[in-house]
Amino acid sequence: MLEVGYLHIDNPIAIISSYNQPTSNNAAGLFLLDGFDLDEVPLAKMEDCLADRKRRGKKGAFGLSATCSQDEPLLEAARLASRNLCLLDLRLPKIRDQKRLLQLIPNLKRCGVTLSLRIRPEDLSNDLLQKLNETDLDMIHLDLRGLNGAGPRMVKKAADSRGAVIMALADIGEFEDAKDLLAMGADMVSLRGADPEFAEWLSGAMKEYDSMSGWCNAPKHICAGGDLRGLAYCCPPVKHCAVLGALKKARMTPDEFVERKLRLARGTPLEKGEGTCFGSLVWCCKITKPCYLRDAVLARMGLSEKEYMRLKKRLSEDLLR
Ligand code: SF4
Ligand code: SF4
Repeated sequence: MLEVGYLHIDNPIAIISSYNQPTSNNAAGLFLLDGFDLDEVPLAKMEDCLADRKRRGKKGAFGLSATCSQDEPLLEAARLASRNLCLLDLRLPKIRDQKRLLQLIPNLKRCGVTLSLRIRPEDLSNDLLQKLNETDLDMIHLDLRGLNGAGPRMVKKAADSRGAVIMALADIGEFEDAKDLLAMGADMVSLRGADPEFAEWLSGAMKEYDSMSGWCNAPKHICAGGDLRGLAYCCPPVKHCAVLGALKKARMTPDEFVERKLRLARGTPLEKGEGTCFGSLVWCCKITKPCYLRDAVLARMGLSEKEYMRLKKRLSEDLLR
């Protein structure tokens, strides 16, 4: 379960559908209605969509995606979204107008809304990313469509800035496409125009994968190109390897890293690990990396692979907090 503002999102798949041709949305973690260009569509249309949803008894996290050349209609939309506890997904025609964007976000947030910003990676400079992370923006919705292989790298850049929740909008054709984005730090993956049956299947498959694995968006190892969450698998920084660069990014010295990991493991099953490379599971690798030493310790302790990964997930959250 992902908590973003007042939203409770029970799986990491979001489905985006045009407001005038909504598709089915029974299993998605988040259902987003797109296309509210408030220069042309009256706010009443949004209200109708919300009323219709209520009438049909639809449950689950819901959002409205809006754009406008003027601020006032967007503020109205934010108040409406806030009253109905739904996400407002902001799209601006000229995202390069940073001044307007950086003034608008705090004004929208003052309406009490849970807010995401849909943005193309070419518009998301390092400077803008840092400034967005200084606002109360809840979610960065990265539109990666058409980028093919470059998408995961963009996700990692945004995720490693440790700011808002990351949702990646991408061309998803199979389970692995979504899993690759999640493994690079996306908290959610969104699909637009996907076959409703496929979208529903993917949401269900992701839920099942999470309940089986214990961490559905588990990162890769840092040395395999993973995002900073992968520090949860790193060994003590005793040799020259990618961990040093990752620690720099995380603004942690090697000594702090060792101290923090040991402290966070204290009193948890990760503290144990006699017979492993560094004597404690807190330094051990991802469960998908075969290792008979670690597996022997898990077996002795009666700790399942899923529970081990849950503990690593919590460790990564606490480490980067
Ligand atoms: S510390 Fe170990 S897991 Fe981490 S980057 Fe270095 S070799 Fe890879
Ligand atoms: S014991 Fe196995 S899992 Fe643990 S650090 Fe060594 S190689 Fe990795």
